[in-house]
Amino acid sequence: MCSTCGCGSDDARVTVLGEAVGTAPEHLPHDAHVHPHRDVHTHEHPVNRTHTIELEVAVLARNDHLAEHNRAWLMERRVRAINLMSSPGAGKTTLLERTIAETPGDVSVIEGDQETVFDAERIRSAGARAVQVNTGAGCHLDADMVRRALDQLQPEPDGTLFIENVGNLVCPALFDLGEARKVVVISVTEGDDKPLKYPHMFAAADLVLVNKIDLLPYVDFDLRRLERDARKLNPGLEMLAVSARTGESFSRWYEWVSEI
Ligand code: MG
Repeated sequence: MCSTCGCGSDDARVTVLGEAVGTAPEHLPHDAHVHPHRDVHTHEHPVNRTHTIELEVAVLARNDHLAEHNRAWLMERRVRAINLMSSPGAGKTTLLERTIAETPGDVSVIEGDQETVFDAERIRSAGARAVQVNTGAGCHLDADMVRRALDQLQPEPDGTLFIENVGNLVCPALFDLGEARKVVVISVTEGDDKPLKYPHMFAAADLVLVNKIDLLPYVDFDLRRLERDARKLNPGLEMLAVSARTGESFSRWYEWVSEI
């Protein structure tokens, strides 16, 4: 997890309409395992392994507590919240642009990226309200960032909330955000070996969207292998091959969302 990979979320910023509105409180004592500097270093880490594992457990327990709070808040308002996860470039934002244009009712989006407000601007242009969370050095969203984004976004009752996580197939799988469902997007240009390489992500998913299916004739990607390997990890997993560019099979995607 992040205390191992060295990523930190202490400098996360929530941005509405291009302006930073706050800085996330530090959720870890900074002296234990996260160096105050971010430059590459080769010296021995001063923290023993036991202490590091204790901190990891504490971070995840605190996150789970905040996630349950988010979940209760969203359920009270009957907002269906979907956590979208993928590697960078799988097509999450393009998928959301089409989904926003074709989904009735209130749709709002929390956008997670390390830097820039590019994706929040695309989402607003597509017609939905959006809050951008910039995680700085962090490689995933956590429940506290989502709570602060929800304060700004205030999704309407009976609406749909998409949380576009930071592009990364590792850490986002470990952090509950309070969502109702987790969706993994994988594109055919990434290769069909991802379930075995990143098992936690596929084990945690409720649905896998295989995107860019319109490019299938041009790449070596075995859809059956991907399905077989993913279901070995997660037998109840639903999978759907779609194209965010052409809209192929999006009616089934909308049905799945409406059934939440
Ligand atoms: Mg994006």
